[in-house]
Amino acid sequence: MSPHPPPEKRPTDTPPVLKVTDLDVHYGPRRRRRRALHGVSLAVSPGETVGVIGETGSGKSTLARTVLGLVPASAGSVLVDGDEVTSYGRRQLRDLRRRGVLQYVFQDPLRSLDPDLTVAASLAEPLLIQGVRPDEAAARVRTFLARVRLGEDLLDRLPGELSGGQRQRVAVARALVTEPRLVILDEPVSALDSANRVQVLKILKELRADGTALVFISHDLGSVVGIADRIAVLYRGELVETGAARDVVSTPRHPYTRLLVRSAPTLRAAPAHRAERAALRALLHT
Ligand code: ADP
Ligand code: MG
Repeated sequence: MSPHPPPEKRPTDTPPVLKVTDLDVHYGPRRRRRRALHGVSLAVSPGETVGVIGETGSGKSTLARTVLGLVPASAGSVLVDGDEVTSYGRRQLRDLRRRGVLQYVFQDPLRSLDPDLTVAASLAEPLLIQGVRPDEAAARVRTFLARVRLGEDLLDRLPGELSGGQRQRVAVARALVTEPRLVILDEPVSALDSANRVQVLKILKELRADGTALVFISHDLGSVVGIADRIAVLYRGELVETGAARDVVSTPRHPYTRLLVRSAPTLRAAPAHRAERAALRALLHT
């Protein structure tokens, strides 16, 4: 066994695909301005999955919408693949999505999917925009449909003719089919029943291409730990803690993070269980 630690999965010198610096976002007219985000800084490396957690109203969706250019920043900077999106117009942002740099999945798949496009058209569209030949796109759509465990009988359906779980699988397939650089997922499993939640999380893990970074937003720590490399904790519009997922769960530093970990029942047992096993191993080997 080599005494050296294994090499980093991702070299740290690659530029981040998302770099948020000192971001402030306000809502409302001047006199009744309310702050939703304050001094938020976060960098996401290519291929990395970062979970953003926080309670309702902590500013998670505001962060997602600002990165997608749907909400203007009042201060700070948001670089997506090196481009400053806070100064972008709608056309440039659409172009960023069209070039396959940036994709998104919302909690409600009816918001991520065009209600007038069939499943086949919805999945083929981002590929065709990138100039993939129609026959190639059709083949790739079928492959992806199988990978999200949906039957080809759904290809001609409209989003309104699918179940919630099926719809979210289509939305996930559409977001990942072009292997984009960055996907923003805002509560992608929160509206699903537990069986569908497990399935969609599994699909996300399987389908994410090596070079695709995910920002996975959830109010539920339990949904995020299995998929995230790092976790960032938002509390009242500020990032109070960012760290490797296992460190945040095993040794949360901020009181709010501690509260989140304590109130996630499936996590509470895990560290104790590990400690028990470690103690047992130590006994057996000494
Ligand atoms: P989360 O997604 O974590 O629940 P949001 O980003 O949706 O939080 O909201 C953060 C804060 O900004 C909340 O206080 C919310 O009421 C406020 N807010 C969100 N959207 C708007 C809006 N369109 N207009 C005014 N206030 C908003
Ligand atoms: Mg939200």
